[in-house]
Amino acid sequence: MTILRHAARGLRTGVFSFAAVALLAMGANWGLALPIERGESAASASPRHVLVVSVDGLGASWLTHPPPNLHIPNFKRLMEEGSYAEGVWSVYPSLTYPAHTTMVTGRMPAEHGIYSNLSSREAGKNSKDWFWFSNAIKVPTLWDLARQNNLTTSSVFWSVTVGGPINWNIPEIWDPAKGMAGDPLYVAKFATPGLLFEAALELGPPQGASDDVMKVKLTGFVLKKHQPNLLMLHLAELDGALHQRGPASPEAAAAVEKADERIGELLTAVKAAGLENKTDVFIVSDHGFLSVERSISPNVLLARAGLITADENGNVTGGKVFTMADGGSFFISWPESQNLRADVEAAIHPLRDEGALYGELGREALKDLGAEPAAQIALEAPSAASFDSKASGEVIQKLPQTTGTHGHLPFRPGLAASFIAWGPHIKKGGALGHIPMTAIGPTLLKALGIEKGQLGPHPPLDQIFK
Ligand SMILES: [Zn+2]
Repeated sequence: MTILRHAARGLRTGVFSFAAVALLAMGANWGLALPIERGESAASASPRHVLVVSVDGLGASWLTHPPPNLHIPNFKRLMEEGSYAEGVWSVYPSLTYPAHTTMVTGRMPAEHGIYSNLSSREAGKNSKDWFWFSNAIKVPTLWDLARQNNLTTSSVFWSVTVGGPINWNIPEIWDPAKGMAGDPLYVAKFATPGLLFEAALELGPPQGASDDVMKVKLTGFVLKKHQPNLLMLHLAELDGALHQRGPASPEAAAAVEKADERIGELLTAVKAAGLENKTDVFIVSDHGFLSVERSISPNVLLARAGLITADENGNVTGGKVFTMADGGSFFISWPESQNLRADVEAAIHPLRDEGALYGELGREALKDLGAEPAAQIALEAPSAASFDSKASGEVIQKLPQTTGTHGHLPFRPGLAASFIAWGPHIKKGGALGHIPMTAIGPTLLKALGIEKGQLGPHPPLDQIFK
């Protein structure tokens, strides 16, 4: 599934084997020196606690205009007792890693440097690597400012956190050679030394729990044992269901209900950690979803025009232009010094004739959207279609079943992301219309009581605070 490669997905082991982690941890040399002392010596006296839960792919309409009979009592409770946005405008492309990084920096991809999920900018090189490592972020993050203000932090599978100065860090990463299928022992190499071992001892065998269930258990463990001021959790199972079956499917609705159950478990975990009276909870997401019935392969046209090269399997191996298929969008870059615009335009022209484009964005538009500065053109997928990276075969293919994707312009109907705030410092019914994703970081800073430092130019959402 080419498109899935561009989707946010967590680890898909189905069973996050704590027993295996524990066994290995006993004799392991973890090898990765973290740039921060262990949490025990970094304890903070701040009374403020913030739990940020990203439900990957949760479009705002699931919450604001839910289908009849959708059972989401926990989301509804937080919305009724707290404040929520009608929608959040994501970033372009509306993908997991750029969006998650915008939430913790208050800045658009053009500034923070996480331009897409995939990190390589060289055709055919490391094409499966994602932007896992936090040192790719070019601007200060929420965890940087928390640390500067003597607050403690934790990440449980939050995106782009590997190696970050986070006190208790279980980052999201997988072995690119093995695909996105998760490997807890691989994650353990990049986690705070000993943390997964401690968790394994405490939590015991997972007994068939799903990945999101295990992430929630890990979150409960970290909250209780270490009481970080900031904990950022990334749940990814909903995104998987939406990619596989599309947002209109019964499977998608069932996955939203499961996510709601996870929220209920997290609220219980906050209580069990004794943090109920001082924790503000933020439910966020990175993007919504659109249904897909056909797949479009612009690389086939670019290869025919000699602008890219490909192997016999249709994988791009090189070329004059670099392309990035991001589901709902398709970015094309080439060096500024080479005037390839007319050639590229001519090559992709058949897409227009076929009705296979919703639109095309040039440099000025991409600049206004805060997208990747090196991109020259972005193609936007038409209704019910998705772009893939395949460079041989048919240009347009009907899919055997309806799937789902994102990556489009963040303003297209269905793409808006979610935001709910709830807790002792949050007003009930603080009305918010649509908000930009860049408002989230400054708002989290305010919830943490951090006055020293800034995350981007947007002011915090003052109206939600008591
Ligand atoms: Zn996502």
